[in-house]
Amino acid sequence: MALFDLDSQQRKDIIGYTSELLEEYYENTKARDVSPDLNINAVREYISDFATAPLHDSKAIIDHVFGGLEKRAVQVAHPSYFGLFNPRPAFPGIVADLMTATTNPQMAAWSHNPFTFAVEEYLIAELGKRMGYEQTDGTFCSGGAEANQTAVLCALNHAFPQYLMTGLRGIDKQPVLYCSSETHHSIAKAARMCGLGIEAVRHVVQNDQLQINVDALDKMIQDDLSNGFAPFMLVATAGTTGPGNIDPLGPMADIAKKYGLWYHVDGAFAGALALHSEKKALLSGIEESDSITIDIHKWLAAPMGTGTFLTSHPESLSSTFRITADYMPKEGTEFDAEDPYTHSIQWSRRSLGLRMYMSLLFFGWAGYEKTIQHHIDMGELMKGLLVEHGWEIKNSSALPIICFKGASDTEDELRRICEFVVKSKRAWISLYPINGEWCLRACITNYATTETEVKELVVLLDEARRSKI
Ligand SMILES: *Cc1c(COP(=O)(O)O)cnc(C)c1O
Repeated sequence: MALFDLDSQQRKDIIGYTSELLEEYYENTKARDVSPDLNINAVREYISDFATAPLHDSKAIIDHVFGGLEKRAVQVAHPSYFGLFNPRPAFPGIVADLMTATTNPQMAAWSHNPFTFAVEEYLIAELGKRMGYEQTDGTFCSGGAEANQTAVLCALNHAFPQYLMTGLRGIDKQPVLYCSSETHHSIAKAARMCGLGIEAVRHVVQNDQLQINVDALDKMIQDDLSNGFAPFMLVATAGTTGPGNIDPLGPMADIAKKYGLWYHVDGAFAGALALHSEKKALLSGIEESDSITIDIHKWLAAPMGTGTFLTSHPESLSSTFRITADYMPKEGTEFDAEDPYTHSIQWSRRSLGLRMYMSLLFFGWAGYEKTIQHHIDMGELMKGLLVEHGWEIKNSSALPIICFKGASDTEDELRRICEFVVKSKRAWISLYPINGEWCLRACITNYATTETEVKELVVLLDEARRSKI
């Protein structure tokens, strides 16, 4: 017996015991505190006390690790977590992860894993179709940040093919890209990481709906052109992280065409609407984009670390990322299939598609539509109840994201209310400024959130307000 294998009986006992713990958690997630006491030093001690002692038996080890996970973390799987797009993972995706970790497919070369490769290829094509692309290439990746970085690299390669050989040194003008100040910060980080620098990121003025103002965008590009800059990319957001707004996707596509810019839609959260037969109208114009980010680990409820990048240019990824390496397997070259490592930032990569594929097999596309609708219904319910209870809604999003405050609430008062809610451990909400005005923010990120939790939050908020004196 190899040491790391344990023996068969031990494995069965471990899985059996873990499975009981996990089942009790999944069934009774609501019995947990939504958030932990925040004392990192106590947690450090929890670890060092246990890890430096002589080896423990398997139950103690499992209790220690699961105790860390369920008692020393915000429980994003809790139905009263009204947070930042972190979902409760759909159960089939969890099982997919267990199977994946066991056989450990290496996704770098397709010939090592024809099955997981073809599953991801299938899902990318299906997602692209739902976005309205006529042809789709794409890749699974770690999340929206990697997908956005991929987009910036594809855009650079598209506008300045010499970039692949010479880097930015080979470009005589300063390349610039356009987005709004509500755009996710991963775009600025991507600009930094590929050497463009943060000043290359232009923030376009927004209208009062916090969407990019297309006239201001047009004018900004013209000014940049006459000042010797080289505009190369336009980023729209479908579902901004704060207020959940969707930029004017169609009109922005027209601007991108007018100036020959790579048009990327960051739909990390709301790209999911493409799976809803009616709500996909909210994404109208996305089909004209050059690329799209959509996270499967947000609205589509896969375990964390599951993003996708889609592009309507079939050559773009391989042209941007292909590098040949003698040690890579060269089997199966007679087939029309490109190795993932020639297609993405990552090299060795775990299989990610199965997390969605398993859920798809259990629930079908109709299951995704139904779930998305449920989130939207819960969001509408919450908006109505908040207004009944005297709160003002400060954003105007079609998504289940609500930014709200009392008419005369100061920032301090809102911070106090937010802290009261979080410290109660009965729910989790956050704060976000809308046009400089601080608000409370609650998002239905969890498919298991029902009317009960929505009503409980509104009651808790009343309690928080009354606790004032
Ligand atoms: C969450 C988010 C990102 C970043 O995605 P990660 O999966 O966290 O890397 C990018 N853009 C938007 C709009 C997001 O909501």
